[in-house]
Amino acid sequence: LNRIWNRESGRILFAASAVALLTILFDNFFIWLSLALFIYVCWLLINLARLDEWVEKSLRTDPPDARGLWEDIVLTLYRYRNRNQKRQKKLVNRLTQFQEATQALPDVVIVLDSEWGVQWANKTAIRMLSIKAATDIGQRISNIVRNPVFVDYLEGEDFSEPVKIPAPVDNSLTLLVHIVPYGKKRYLLVARDITKLERLEKVRQDFVANVSHEMRTPLTVINGYLETLCDDDSIESATANLYEQMHQQSMRMQNIVNDLLLLAKLESADSQATRNEISLAGLLSILKEESEGLSRSKQLNIQFEADTSLKLRGSESELHSVFSNLLSNAIRYTPEHGLITVRWYCKDNKANFEVQDTGIGIATQHIDRLTERFYRVDVGRSRHSGGTGLGLAIVKHVLLRHRAVLNISSEEGVGSCFQVVFPKDRTIIE
Ligand code: ADP
Repeated sequence: LNRIWNRESGRILFAASAVALLTILFDNFFIWLSLALFIYVCWLLINLARLDEWVEKSLRTDPPDARGLWEDIVLTLYRYRNRNQKRQKKLVNRLTQFQEATQALPDVVIVLDSEWGVQWANKTAIRMLSIKAATDIGQRISNIVRNPVFVDYLEGEDFSEPVKIPAPVDNSLTLLVHIVPYGKKRYLLVARDITKLERLEKVRQDFVANVSHEMRTPLTVINGYLETLCDDDSIESATANLYEQMHQQSMRMQNIVNDLLLLAKLESADSQATRNEISLAGLLSILKEESEGLSRSKQLNIQFEADTSLKLRGSESELHSVFSNLLSNAIRYTPEHGLITVRWYCKDNKANFEVQDTGIGIATQHIDRLTERFYRVDVGRSRHSGGTGLGLAIVKHVLLRHRAVLNISSEEGVGSCFQVVFPKDRTIIE
């Protein structure tokens, strides 16, 4: 109010003096006062109308000519407009730069709204997904990419992992599609052409599978001869010892080849395991028998705590290899007279298989890497006890195919616990 008064005081003083002078000269104070007020209000209204006209044009034209109090208001608005224009320009520049960078990306980038409608797509998206900029903007993405795996992924609303689909423009290309939620129910669809990577991976898989396959027959023959030689009583003991060691090593190689072949088979199979109904009672009694044979020399105490009414949907042979790998590891890495507990129970409607031992344990830094091929904490100990270094890699693959999770907890010198949690849709509670 002070500022307004300061700006207008001169003008008001002039009007008051004019009213006073006119009253002295011609009397009729109220007439002169009303006239002065009328002229002042008219002047205010004219300025207000000019300002309004300028604001109506979003302050885009030149500012109106203004005096006094109005000059002040116009100047403030003028500065505000200039500042805003600069900011807007900066923002537009940044947006253009960002769009240009996203356009240049070799990956597919699509902005989707909450209803999965396409809001914006870069050039790669237009090319790889054959999006038509003129008609497809606003269309649901599932109307453009109709692949059932992608549609399921979209409807499942679990975007923690990407999915692989063939590119809509060319079936021989493979896209890795990932949906990333951001802001308020908005999504970014990012896809990458992984055809070359897939081919390389296939070459690697085929190579390992072929080598293992080719090695299996000669190894079986060598093993057979060595077995015969080991059983030959006429051979002197020093040579027999040599044959025994050769036999052990060739057996080790045969185990590695068998594990590699199993891994290759798992890798080339469908990503989802079969869903046969499996009763664990039979599987557990086989495990019991196997473990008795393996642990006899160590006198281990192996206990089974099983809820046999709990069943599973999956592949029996694959799950047998998981359970027996975990149990044979526990036996291998638990010293004499140790305790091993195998548990089969239901928790939160999910089936759990657990093997707990009182063995040597694993240091924390190794735990995350245990499922890598040939990763061993102690190579010597693993080899000595007949390990191939592939057991947990097989476990990981099978569990992936069953959408199950492997939790490992361990303390060095105290023991380890390997827990498998199966998803609800593979658990049968009776
Ligand atoms: P390996 O044939 O060597 O046992 P695995 O893949 O089955 O190969 O296991 C990888 C490594 O994990 C093992 O070499 C061992 O160091 C460690 N490990 C697995 N299970 C246990 C266990 N129950 N206790 C201690 N260490 C274990």
